[in-house]
Amino acid sequence: MSEEVFINKVLKGIGVSSGITYGRVRLLERGKIPINKRPIKEEQGDKEILKFRNAIKHAVEELNGIKQTMPDDEMRKHSFIIDAHMLILQDEFFTNAVINTIKEDKINAEWALDIVVSEFLSSFEKVEDSYLRERGQDIKYIYDRLVRILVKGKSSGINDFNIKGKMIIAAHDLSPADTIQLNLNKISGFITDVGGRTSHTSIVARALEIPAVVGVGNITGLVKNNDTIIIDGDEGVAIINPTKEVKKDYIVKQIHLKVQRREFLRVAKLKPETRDGFKMKVGANIELLAEMDIIERYGAQGVGLYRTEYIYLSRKELPTETDHYHIYKKLSENKAMEYITIRTLDIGGDKFVSNIEMPKEINPAMGLRAIRLCIKEVGLFKAQLKGILRASAYGPLKILIPMISGIDEVRRAKAILAECMDELARKKIEFNKDMKFGIMIEVPSTCMISDKLASEVDFFSIGTNDLIQYTLAIDRVNEYVSYLYEPMHPAVLKMIKQTVENAHAHKIEVALCGEMAGEALYVPVLMALELDEISMNAYSIPKAKKIIRGLDHSYCKELLDEILKRDSGREGNLLLRNEMARLFPNDFIQCYEE
Ligand code: PEP
Ligand code: MG
Repeated sequence: MSEEVFINKVLKGIGVSSGITYGRVRLLERGKIPINKRPIKEEQGDKEILKFRNAIKHAVEELNGIKQTMPDDEMRKHSFIIDAHMLILQDEFFTNAVINTIKEDKINAEWALDIVVSEFLSSFEKVEDSYLRERGQDIKYIYDRLVRILVKGKSSGINDFNIKGKMIIAAHDLSPADTIQLNLNKISGFITDVGGRTSHTSIVARALEIPAVVGVGNITGLVKNNDTIIIDGDEGVAIINPTKEVKKDYIVKQIHLKVQRREFLRVAKLKPETRDGFKMKVGANIELLAEMDIIERYGAQGVGLYRTEYIYLSRKELPTETDHYHIYKKLSENKAMEYITIRTLDIGGDKFVSNIEMPKEINPAMGLRAIRLCIKEVGLFKAQLKGILRASAYGPLKILIPMISGIDEVRRAKAILAECMDELARKKIEFNKDMKFGIMIEVPSTCMISDKLASEVDFFSIGTNDLIQYTLAIDRVNEYVSYLYEPMHPAVLKMIKQTVENAHAHKIEVALCGEMAGEALYVPVLMALELDEISMNAYSIPKAKKIIRGLDHSYCKELLDEILKRDSGREGNLLLRNEMARLFPNDFIQCYEE
């Protein structure tokens, strides 16, 4: 903890949950408890093993206790994270590794645990992709809990802290168990030293709408309890002990954001239709079931993209057909959604899950990813397809296949789906035989053959995150080339244009669900390109609707013609930005030549 008193100290991290908050810090210190190596005599081995087994039992009881006392239903939805921790604690491979180390190295339980966990973590840390690396955090949380029990007899929970009034929790890293046992009424923000967009804490903070900034570096070394702090979850910024002036600026910004959000929420439920009658559906992208309430409030007409990877991530065993079925059935039961697009497993590239063994690849973004893996591991694919089919009997589900590169993959995926239908029909299990079947357009080859693909499927969904990555040859997770990420690049625009024209010539619909859809700036271009749907994170929906409702489609088309005459994405972007600043001066800033 810092002795220095900082004033107006600005820290930069990753804004993972939107909103601005200001309050007093409650430092959640989970510093490493010092442990000692203690050699033991052979006959003391059983005593240490018993101590370790009791610690496991105690930890499971603590976690069970947390589950029972979770403050409200919203939290309880996330209790699967605690279940995942309990499964690791009860994993025989893990416990046997510690017990064998006690026996073989003749050392105390804490030290044996430390050795085993360090070995586990070093394998996790070598992995470059964020999803799998974040799972190493789960092992750290469990280690922390067990060491505290072994050394102190109990592991302090977050509720041991006497939190008065609203607090901003500052921690090295919040364990998922910490996050979900917090009493929401007392917490107005999170800030952590480590973590990324895909960490459990970030996902849960977003789903619960608590502003959060993670990956700040050393917040726990810089703040003390009761310091004041501003958290800006949009900009990924925190300011320790802001002066009155800075605080005032942020209060103004906070009020502005609140007013803006209120104004946006007013238009959230309005129809996305231009002044001259052009309609474009506005959907939401989700990762968690818990997000359904939020997307409804923010005016989503449907779910344009449900990234199902999180289902695999949140459990130790692979999800079964029945697990899938229950999740998708729950989604189907939300009658406010006109459609729910379930994308089949898209792992590989920058996304990994620990329960599927993947080969080590030099270039995973172009490797055994998404549909390529599903076609290879048919059993894995069929469990998900059958789960979706069974749930399709209850609501307007659509199926979306990621990472298609050619027509043979589409036909193979359709053949596997047909097998699943046969198998269900034979068992007399109900499903929607006409469920819409679509593919992601995110590999450049699919834009070029979109005329052929359009006669094979019911809809397209353009994934610009990957389409831009593969078209412009820029790794989407590499910060050194991120300046080349240009949605207005003429090549990208021409690809989208060609895809939409071919789709419409075959009378099928086209959605766009990459991050580009959530940037209000691009909405006029997407309307001009005549996309049938744009799908984005919930918070961007109201602003997108405001833009749609404030423009004429004919104007958007003229604007796109002008943008397409420009030689580069930068020039097109400049023109677009300035036009939007002219038309919506409160929402966009004029920009001069960069
Ligand atoms: C995309 O590639 O644009 C997309 C929506 O999928 P993801 O970001 O999950 O790869
Ligand atoms: Mg993609």
